Amino acid sequence: MNRYQTLTVDGYEEVVRCDNREAGFAAWIAIHNTNRGPALGGCRVWNYGSDEEAFFDVLRLSRGMTYKNSLAHLPLGGGKCVVRVDLGRVDRAHLFESVGEFVDTLGGRYITAEDVNSTVEDMAHVQRSTAHVATVGASGNPSPFTAYGVYCAIKAGILYTRGRKNLSGLRVAIQGVGETGGRLARLLASAGCNVVAADLSQERLDRLRSQVDAQVIGPADVHRCRCDIFSPCAMGGTLNHKTIPELRCALVAGSANNQLLNPSDGHLLDRLGIVYIPDYAANAGGVINISCEIDGEYDGERARIRTARIGETVTEILHRSVATRLPTSVVADAMAEELFKLEKVA
Ligand code: NAD
Repeated sequence: MNRYQTLTVDGYEEVVRCDNREAGFAAWIAIHNTNRGPALGGCRVWNYGSDEEAFFDVLRLSRGMTYKNSLAHLPLGGGKCVVRVDLGRVDRAHLFESVGEFVDTLGGRYITAEDVNSTVEDMAHVQRSTAHVATVGASGNPSPFTAYGVYCAIKAGILYTRGRKNLSGLRVAIQGVGETGGRLARLLASAGCNVVAADLSQERLDRLRSQVDAQVIGPADVHRCRCDIFSPCAMGGTLNHKTIPELRCALVAGSANNQLLNPSDGHLLDRLGIVYIPDYAANAGGVINISCEIDGEYDGERARIRTARIGETVTEILHRSVATRLPTSVVADAMAEELFKLEKVA
């Protein structure tokens, strides 16, 4: 049986903890802001080392979703669910049905979706207990949209900084060629880019090289590669005080979440004259696609058109950054805040 406890956290609309001893999990839902609409954010499942760690994660991630959803102009707020569980020791169907009950207690103010360690199949179990779940079918895998959004961000970045409409002949170093990075590599190769790829998985590199002509580089060296564009598409924190001075690129844009280890890293990139396209602006294609499922009847073409608007957002960020002499990371945060703090979207 789920037991609930409401927690008061400054700056958050609602934070609730759920414990279910029989099902073997603890979970937290944080609703950061709903000024633009119900809070959308995935359900992250992780065997956290402590409750504090899980709690910290749900606060950080739900806030990030407010910024991402707002900057993408979606009529959605930011929220997240994290589940602390050892997946090897629980009945998965029961777990996700119980998570669905938890989501349902928020009456639609929070909409869940898949995330790290939770799948579309798991969301079908969540759906047995609540209607407030996206990605149960029609919109499918978000990765193609995420990759396409990053591609649009890169095109806008190159147009703004170099006045070039095409990417032909540009060298792009991609860190991680999985679901999103692999697709991005294919899009860029089709546009005439020279792709340099790094991954920890030889299988993923082999697959990519069977599809496009890509040069392979070691994971430790990819950020040092001389190139036009460096694209972090693996894990977060890869832009930090150690790696940034080693970059030999003009532009950074990728799918990875939380690319900057610290906010000061956005300032460092700016000081070094490297144009950084903020991660949550570039990688919003997946959530834009999901929002098209929430909207009513899903239409893949509409999702693609909306994803392409990431290019306009990137142009606006770059324009404001030049005009105000502020780093793009600071500008993007301010733009998102304008969009979610002003007024409720009707
Ligand atoms: P994925 O697991 O399919 O691919 C990541 C790849 O990075 C894997 O092939 C992995 O082997 C590789 N990798 C890990 N560490 C590496 C390293 N140090 N150097 C080089 N390669 C490394 O994941 P994904 O779905 O492509 O997501 C990638 C990033 O994009 C994540 O940060 C994710 O949170 C973010 N993101 C994904 C989506 C989406 O739609 N999938 C949406 C928004 C953000």
